[in-house]
Amino acid sequence: MVDRVYNFSPGPATLPYEVLENAGRDVVNFQDTGIGLIEISHRSKEFMAVADETEANLRELLKIPDNYKVLFLQGGASSQFFMIPMNLLGSQKKATYLNTGTWAKKAIKEAKLFGNIDVPFSSEESSFNKVPRSGEYEIAQESEYLYFVSNNTIYGTQFAQFPETDKMLISDMSSDILSRPVDINKFGIIFAGAQKNLGPAGVTIVIIREDLLEETPENTPSMLSYKTHADKGSMFNTPPCFAIYAVGEVLKWLKKQGGVDAIEKRNIEKASLLYQAIDATDYYRGHAEKDSRSLMNISFNLPTPELEAKFIDEAAAIGLNGLKGHRSIGGCRASIYNAFPTEGVEKLVQFMQKFETENPVSN
Ligand SMILES: *Cc1c(COP(=O)(O)O)cnc(C)c1O
Repeated sequence: MVDRVYNFSPGPATLPYEVLENAGRDVVNFQDTGIGLIEISHRSKEFMAVADETEANLRELLKIPDNYKVLFLQGGASSQFFMIPMNLLGSQKKATYLNTGTWAKKAIKEAKLFGNIDVPFSSEESSFNKVPRSGEYEIAQESEYLYFVSNNTIYGTQFAQFPETDKMLISDMSSDILSRPVDINKFGIIFAGAQKNLGPAGVTIVIIREDLLEETPENTPSMLSYKTHADKGSMFNTPPCFAIYAVGEVLKWLKKQGGVDAIEKRNIEKASLLYQAIDATDYYRGHAEKDSRSLMNISFNLPTPELEAKFIDEAAAIGLNGLKGHRSIGGCRASIYNAFPTEGVEKLVQFMQKFETENPVSN
């Protein structure tokens, strides 16, 4: 095994080592075909089997009902920001969006190109340090759907409970898909860029309720219509073969860990270790309000920007990498997705205690 550091990067993010090893082998010679994985036809029986198995495992792990399609698309999670309203809001229909951070804001901007968008909640004034509680906002009657970002990667906030409403939910789960169970039936669409919790960059998973495939306006370009991809099993054009394969390997790994319930338990344990360390002292301050805290991204500050820079450098020197916060809020951020090992969190907690002792603030 190569010397690995603990990689707290928000995305692309750390992957299970066995996934990297398998990928390294298969890129050179896929299943003893004498052809490398990234050379093989997407219509070969070998690759079709990979795509089928990946979808089957995702369905099993997330308990996706039969009336939902699973699509493997390109263009990143960001392309879903316009594909959703483009397909669902033809002729200026209404939708409600919750503004809980950068990714929500970007989705709102795109949605306004197509529909009549209502934004009854925003935590922008408090640097997006919280998500709304149920009842804190109203959903316009005529809304086609309620859109929210289940985990706000940059600010480290997360919906512990999904919004309660009889409206159809649509969610960007890019940074917490498969980290906890989800009742898919409440959702019209769930999507996630793979590079946080699922695999490498290059594929976006879209889980879409079948009846929504009929909503798309006629003048929608083929590549931007969900129906095109659903009808062709995500093979309307060449799919991102390598990324789909790697997601498949991550899903096999996740099944071996005991699936979504088991990983949720471990995610809670890992995040609790870090939040306890933050709450134990005034030296570290969590960005998120307590009841909005994310189990995936923990954003925190030290007493000064200078100490933060020193903290990030010294951490990197002992193999704790990628702790710099997003440029929009600064500070530090530990991203601890499914594949991030508990030992790395323990090492960070020890380092935090040591750093505080060695760098006291004089009052
Ligand atoms: C990273 C991220 C995105 C952007 O994903 P791209 O694949 O780079 O477009 C969108 N939403 C959330 C919640 C993210 O964490």
